[in-house]
Amino acid sequence: MKPVLDETHDSKVQSWVESANLAGSDFPIQNLPFGVFRRCKAGAEARVGVAIGDRILDLAGAQSDGLLATDDESVRLAANACASDSLNPLMAIGASPRRALRRRLHAILRQDAPASDRQAASRHLVAQADADMLLPAAVGDYTDFYASIFHATNVGKLFRPDNPLLPNYKYIPIGYHGRASSLVPTGTPVRRPSGQTRDGGADPNKDPKFGPTRALDYEVELGFFVGAGNSLGETIPIGEAEEHIFGICLVNDWSARDIQAWEYQPLGPFLAKSFATSLSPWVVTMEALAPFRAPAFARGEGDPAPLPYLFAQSDREQGGLDLWLEVSLLSVRMQEAGMAPAVFGRSNFRDMYWTMAQMLTHHASNGCNLRAGDLLASGTVSGADKTARGCLLELTSRGKEPVTLPTGEQRKFLEDGDQVILRGFCERAGFRRIGLGSCRGAILPASAI
Ligand code: CA
Repeated sequence: MKPVLDETHDSKVQSWVESANLAGSDFPIQNLPFGVFRRCKAGAEARVGVAIGDRILDLAGAQSDGLLATDDESVRLAANACASDSLNPLMAIGASPRRALRRRLHAILRQDAPASDRQAASRHLVAQADADMLLPAAVGDYTDFYASIFHATNVGKLFRPDNPLLPNYKYIPIGYHGRASSLVPTGTPVRRPSGQTRDGGADPNKDPKFGPTRALDYEVELGFFVGAGNSLGETIPIGEAEEHIFGICLVNDWSARDIQAWEYQPLGPFLAKSFATSLSPWVVTMEALAPFRAPAFARGEGDPAPLPYLFAQSDREQGGLDLWLEVSLLSVRMQEAGMAPAVFGRSNFRDMYWTMAQMLTHHASNGCNLRAGDLLASGTVSGADKTARGCLLELTSRGKEPVTLPTGEQRKFLEDGDQVILRGFCERAGFRRIGLGSCRGAILPASAI
């Protein structure tokens, strides 16, 4: 499962879609992420597309025009799978046809593509500004992990100062089953949830009450979609795990900390998390990430080695990912004053204790069947540094150390009207920078109770 570099990663290749060649573009020809879009006009249908610069190549349109019809059986298989209103069929057919389609798209979109390809493709380009992005997949199941040891330790300290990291942490990729029905694409407003909370304080017998959360938080996470799944009762060996991963997106796992603190024992998160989870719409494939793979996190001295079913030499050497994640906040007052969003944190996915392959293999290790389009999320991505904290719970020490915005406003947790923006990108000398785009959501006031 060693990442393969080929002509699609060549940094010197440019596209005839000029916006893809701009230095800051998230979507150069080396990226080619897949997503589902709908043109902003009445009656438009959901289509599978690939992002190139500030455009979308409509793959169903390109296919119907014969642009993807080649002698290569794999390309045809993948192109047919794109005639859908979700990425699930493309995810289900596995890695090999997807790689073939990537090579074909690269050939069509590169600057020196044959004029006939170029003319045909330009008829199926849609400006991203003229399209709404939808969820990339119909997600059957969503699982959220807890793979950052820095996040787990910081949060653990707040709740259990004497015993921050529980004894299972270095053995098991901890996770819980999330809620698929409330996954929403970027831009969808998030309603402040109400729930049961108990302000413990000095009186352990105080009654709980029901009302809008007063501790609404974001969590900066990376999501990864299952490609080809496994049958019920079968497992996925760690050495094959990455062949079952389609690609990645940004995830904001909105969390109500006061509801969470009261409900989480003994079974874990429930209503504190299930009210909304936001996704970025473009899925960056594992192929596009090949130049940015990194060694897995170096375990501390004295840490146990992963149990054999979670260990592969290739995973230790290349299972990590050098990907930066950034979270910023824009309050209503900042927006009115024309200010830029304030950056709250920058963290790197290299700092995750568990790799994507380990999470996936562990998930299927009991014979649980993973299906194409299932979403696995990493858990909050935090690092050792205070600037690398992926949620307000950590950043403000549960509200004890508020953050000051450029307007002078303070935040312990999120206020109504606040917009949270996640971004992600990979960069490495000798390669084109690629990005994940953004994942945005603004907070609406709670509904009347
Ligand atoms: Ca989470």
